This record gives sequence, structure tokens and C-alpha cells, in this order.
Amino acid sequence: MTVTTEEPSQTFAFQAETRQLLDLMIHSLYSNKEIFLRELISNASDALDRLRFEALSNPELAGGEPEIRLEADSAARTLTVHDNGIGMSRDEVIANIGTIAKSGTRELVEKLRTAQQDTSIEKLIGQFGVGFYSSFMVADRVELVTRRAGETEATRWESSGDGTFTIAAAERATPGTSITLHLKPVDEEAGLADFTDEWVLSRIVRRYSDFVAYPIVLPVEREKPTESSEVEEKAAEKTVEDKRLNSMQPLWTRDPAEVTDADYAELYKHVSGDWNDPLETIRVKAEGRFEYQALLFIPSQAPYDLFYVGSKPGLQLYVRRVQIKEAAEELLPHYLRFVKGVVDSPDLPLNVSREMLQTDRQIALIQKGLTRRILDRLNEMADKEPDKYLTFWRELGRAIKEGVSEDYAHRDKLLPLLRYPSSADPEKLTSLAGYRERMKEDQEVIWYVTAESREVAESSPHLEAFRERGIEVLFMTDPVDELLVQTFHEYDGKRLKSAVKGEVDLGPKEEREEREKAMKEREETLRPLLDRLQKALDEHVKHVRLSSRLTTSPACLVGAEHDYSPQLERLLQKGKGGGAKQRRILELNPEHAIVQKLESRADGEGSDEVVSRYAQLLLGYAYLAEGSEVPDPVAFNARLTELMSEGL
Ligand code: ADP
Ligand code: MG
Repeated sequence: MTVTTEEPSQTFAFQAETRQLLDLMIHSLYSNKEIFLRELISNASDALDRLRFEALSNPELAGGEPEIRLEADSAARTLTVHDNGIGMSRDEVIANIGTIAKSGTRELVEKLRTAQQDTSIEKLIGQFGVGFYSSFMVADRVELVTRRAGETEATRWESSGDGTFTIAAAERATPGTSITLHLKPVDEEAGLADFTDEWVLSRIVRRYSDFVAYPIVLPVEREKPTESSEVEEKAAEKTVEDKRLNSMQPLWTRDPAEVTDADYAELYKHVSGDWNDPLETIRVKAEGRFEYQALLFIPSQAPYDLFYVGSKPGLQLYVRRVQIKEAAEELLPHYLRFVKGVVDSPDLPLNVSREMLQTDRQIALIQKGLTRRILDRLNEMADKEPDKYLTFWRELGRAIKEGVSEDYAHRDKLLPLLRYPSSADPEKLTSLAGYRERMKEDQEVIWYVTAESREVAESSPHLEAFRERGIEVLFMTDPVDELLVQTFHEYDGKRLKSAVKGEVDLGPKEEREEREKAMKEREETLRPLLDRLQKALDEHVKHVRLSSRLTTSPACLVGAEHDYSPQLERLLQKGKGGGAKQRRILELNPEHAIVQKLESRADGEGSDEVVSRYAQLLLGYAYLAEGSEVPDPVAFNARLTELMSEGL
């Protein structure tokens, strides 16, 4: 006998975020602990898919019949999940199991830390889909032995979920991965069934993983009926046979009448990694010259990384039930990346290449068909199930806004989906159609204001005249709205116009003309003062003029028609290379006492000093009123204290 000296194992610490997630997982009150099996099976199924992809270009890698095998030992209280998929190299084990290299992880952990109730913690964990780590809900210790296809060495990973894991060299006869769970004691109340029991395992697999495309087998003991069974009962021979636990039938090929919502929800969880049910399921069957079927899911929560760079599109492409691409970005426009699901077409070639997917006419047709179906369904939801639609809007409205900027062809279906807070209602959001209906007879424009928040927008002096006349203004408070209004200028024949840019001319035509005339005359008499203010503020202001939007405030700052809003300017300045600082327009309220007194002081003794001091104060006031920062707070405060002490 030869004695082999075992290579020593190496201990690693989990990445901080992983450790925190793991802790939450282990101590979680998540009652549905049995889903760990779904997660392990889902990983095994991914590994088999990957092996199949790689074997396409490297046939030497192809192993035996793909299979996921469960092995239960009730005496030892272990459950092992074997697969003969792609496996992992030592480096891959360290990179994939132990670190979570997903963007947004830190933010998620932060949210988890501050989440108050268990339910919200569970929703967040679910949304993140901490796949492999869910094994620690049911096991005290987890061992993983894996061998990468194409390599000869195997690796053992082991952890008790306590902050560290060990890595050692190991042996494995064939490529693939085996994960052994050292199960916690059975405790039905805590959701810990006997996960070594044939019937428990059958039930769990059927419930969560029935449609998995590879056989999930469990060796079971059966008594072999012997010829003279009535005589030798005790000696009945036992044999072990493989029992397949899943039907392997893709849901989209089944008769819709036989598929339940719960079945669809499990497929959703399998493809998305989300543990929560989808908000909506859309089943598509396109027939005719070019056929395809699809199951599309709209999540009930935005995927945690949706708005990060690198967030993956959500559709898998199948050809005749065989998966050929897992995150197929060709199947939907980018802004619909939150839609998860599968598309299966019998008419595409099995060895379809990347280039082909990008240029293929049929793929373009699928994209168009699916986009329509999704947008139609959302519109239908908005009409018939407004509360449900609002859930969607809160979570994923941002993506629809992206769509308005990106997808001109579907604008007619996207615009009705927009919802905004508006001055018409303190709480309820409005659609553009709703606004359109409430428009005054002589109103020609849809007014909006972009601002950091509704509060800032509502209290800004720019809206005084709107308030007085009861003219509705939409509050656009999302940073993407700034981009949206760059490309979206008109709805149903009415122009969209910012209430804080350009001139505003409210009221009936005759009134407007009269006002304009009076304003011109007043501006003439005020010309000397306006010019002196302009001179004093030239660095910040390109024009000083009289305002028709102010009723109670003395001044406000506005942009020219095509200027960026202050928020967008700030965003651009934060970005690479910064943005140029724009000069604004200072508007004065001719009816305001300050303006009138200034006028009377404008040519007295020491008037230069007075005008310049008030110019600074008015400018500072206008910045603060719109929620911006004063450019030179020290100077502003000095002027203010001067004034305060004079006033006493
Ligand atoms: P996800 O499946 O969302 O990527 P998991 O936590 O479930 O997250 O798995 C983490 C990673 O570990 C996987 O992405 C994969 O790279 C690797 N992995 C897990 N299980 C297996 C397996 N059975 N075979 C090969 N790789 C696996
Ligand atoms: Mg997984």
C-alpha cells in the first residue's frame, strides 16, 4: 500500500459582503428553506448547459449523458447533488464560491443592514438570489468537490459558513461537481424536512425543478418481487434503481390549461435567480411563416443591478427545446432587459452564431413581436389593473423612460405608460392623457419642471403664476427625466415645455398680448436699473429681464429655451470632463416692493453701492429658492449680515 501525503488545505476568509449575506442566510427565518435544492439544481443545470456550449467548439470536452444525480444517506444525514457539467478549476472555485462579484452587492448588503422587518430582508435576499449560499439554511457544513472539464486535477472546497472556507486538492474520476450537505437535524417547524427522504426529495424536485431539461435522478431501493415471495418474505431481495424525479417537459410546450401560475413562477425563479413571484407572466405563441414560443416574466421588483453597467439581459434562447444562448441581448431592446424568460423557435439553426443572431431577420421579427406583446400587456395592465401597474411603475418605470429616449418606433406604446407626480394632486401620479384632459381651453403647452424633488419643485418661485391660474405642472424628479425631455417634445399635438426655461405666457391670447405690451413699456422705464444689475452680475447671468411667472417673489433664475436645467448641469459636471457652467437669466418681478424701491434709489447718492449689493442678494435669493447652491456663500452671507445689522 502506498501512503500519499495529503496536500495541506488552505484557509481563506470570505469577502466581507459574502460573509454578511451568509450570516443573514444562516439566521434567516426564511421558512421556505427547501428552495436550497432548487438553487443547487439550477446551478447544476447551468453547468451542464455550459459544458454543452463549450463542447460545440471543443468536442473533446463532451462527457457522458448529462445528468443531475441526488444521493441521500439518511444514516449519515447527508445529501449530495452531483452533476457532470463544466465543473470548476481551483481558481474558479475561489472566484465563484466565496466572493460575490456582482455589481451592486455592497449597496444590497447596506440595504439589508438597514432593513427593519424580516419580510423586507427576505424580499431583498430573494431579489438578489444568493443561490449557492442558500445551502447553509439547511446544512451546518458544505463540501464541494469539482473538476473542470478538460483538466485532470480536482478541488475540494469546504465551509461551515462561519467566515472562512478551505481549499484543497482532491480527486474526482470525471469532470463535474458534487456538493455534499451535512444536514441540520430535522425540524419541520423551522422548515427543515428530512431532505434524505425519497418522497420529500421527489416532492421538492417536482415542485421547483420539474421543467429542468436534464434528468434529475435519485437511486432508490426497491424490493424485487421474487418468484416465491409468499414463502420467503424476509429474504425479499432489494435492488437499487434510478428514479427520475422531473418530467423534463418545458412549460411552454405544455397545454396552457395544464400549467398553473405556481409552475410558471418556478420557471421564472429558475431563469431569474429571483426568489419572489413574478408580477406578470406573458405566454406568447407566434404561428405562421415563422414560429416561436415564449414565456416572458415581469419581475415584481427591479433586479438589484438593473441600472448598473453590466446588468444582463433576461431572455434565454432555445432552438427546439435546446438552450443556445443564456442572456440573449438580441431578443429585446436594451431598455426591456428587466423582462426574464425563454424564447424557443423551431425555425432557427441549432448552431446559430453570434453574428447571425445580430443580423438575422427572424431574430429581428422576434424582437419586434415580443416588444409589442410586452408593451401591449403593460398598457392593458395600466388600464385594467392600475394598482398593479403602479407597483410596476415604481420599480421599473425608469426603464420605460429609457425606452422613450431609445425606442422611437414604439413611442406610441411607451408614452401612455408614463406616470408623473403633478400639481393637480398631492399624491396620485398622472398619465399624460390625464393631464391632457385637464388642460385649460386656451392652454397650448404641457408644462413640466425638472427638480430634485417634488417639494423643491412645488416651493420654487417659478410656479407662482401657474399656481395662481390653476395651471397644472408635471414634476419630473428622476435624473433620467432630464434625458427624456431632451428627446421627447410633444404629446398628442401639444408641446412639452419647461416652466423654468424660456418665457412663459399664460392665459388667453388677448390677455397675453396686452401683458406683453405693458411689460415692454415697463422694461423701457426700468432699463437703466436692469442694465446696472446685469453689469453687476455678468459673471453668473447673461440677461436680466422682467418676469411674467412671479407673483409674490422678487426674482428667479431661468434658463434659455435650450439650456440644460440646473440639475442636468450638476449631473454633467459630476461626469467625466465636467460640463461647462452656463450663465442663467435673472427675472425680476416688477410688482415687487424691492424692485420698485431699487428703482427709486437707482440714481441717488451712493446708488452704485446699493445696486451692486442688492444684485448679489437677489441672485443669492434666486439660487436658494430653486434649490441650488449660492455660488459664493461667504460673500452672500457678508451682504446679508450687513443688511441685517442696518435693519435693526
Ligand atoms: P449564480 O448561479 O446566480 O451565479 P450561485 O451562488 O448560485 O450564483 O453560484 C455562484 C457561482 O458558482 C456560479 O455562477 C457558478 O460559476 C459556480 N457554480 C455553482 N455551482 C456550480 C456547479 N454545480 N458547477 C459549476 N459551477 C458552479
Ligand atoms: Mg445559482
